[in-house]
Amino acid sequence: MKHLYRSLTWVEARGRAEQGAVIIIPVAAIEQHGYHLPIDVDNVLVEHVTEEAARRSEGLVLVAPMIHYGFNEHNMGFPGTISIRDTVFVDFCYDVAHSFTRQGYDRILFVNGHGSNQMLCNLASRRINNTTKALCGAVAHWSLAKAEVDRLRDSKFSGGMAHACEFETAMYLHIRPELVDMSKATEREAPSSRNEFMYDDLFGSGPVHMVERWSQISESGVEGDPKLATAEKGHAFAEMEIANLIKVCQAMRAMKPGPERDFNHRP
Ligand SMILES: [Zn+2]
Repeated sequence: MKHLYRSLTWVEARGRAEQGAVIIIPVAAIEQHGYHLPIDVDNVLVEHVTEEAARRSEGLVLVAPMIHYGFNEHNMGFPGTISIRDTVFVDFCYDVAHSFTRQGYDRILFVNGHGSNQMLCNLASRRINNTTKALCGAVAHWSLAKAEVDRLRDSKFSGGMAHACEFETAMYLHIRPELVDMSKATEREAPSSRNEFMYDDLFGSGPVHMVERWSQISESGVEGDPKLATAEKGHAFAEMEIANLIKVCQAMRAMKPGPERDFNHRP
């Protein structure tokens, strides 16, 4: 069965909605990823795990064409970066998901590959739930690899896995090794740990959310320990993400939301 939404005919799109297919909307960014990685890292990682999950899901999951650009104002000091304004981005994500609900798709998941998009994907998915009968959620892909990260991680928490780091470099080494130049990978730059309240890592941030302009605190653009990355780690992370993504979609499909009630007025 086809797993790429873009390859369906409109008749097939109607049929898959009727069959209860779960829609994954991949969301990423084009942004600097240090000296050793291309600017398409977030796109490549999200594309790989979402398309593989859909392909292996036996017809349950359809993956939508990716939203390539993200909210990235903090990185604009580095060439290569494209930024979409926050409100435009939320509206755009909402409109894409909403278009699926209008066709009858009722389970939608944003799978995001860029940290700063996450709060906006969360908002867009909340807005779908507030305005339609569909169920929509949002997840950062790396969070689905947590168990393998705990097992294989060599960089210190926090800061070792944040941006163009041990995690992202490992994933890219697994998917497109020919485009990684490990000779240009930097020593750990950890501007992400400012104080006990403000630190950053893909696997847990400090209680205070505060993102400065990246050029103020980083020379290379990297945040973390890319030299600790290996393709083997990337393979393990990717496979766990793919397996968990299928499980998330199965769980969403199985959810049976109760009827909406209004307790404002006595019967
Ligand atoms: Zn990235």
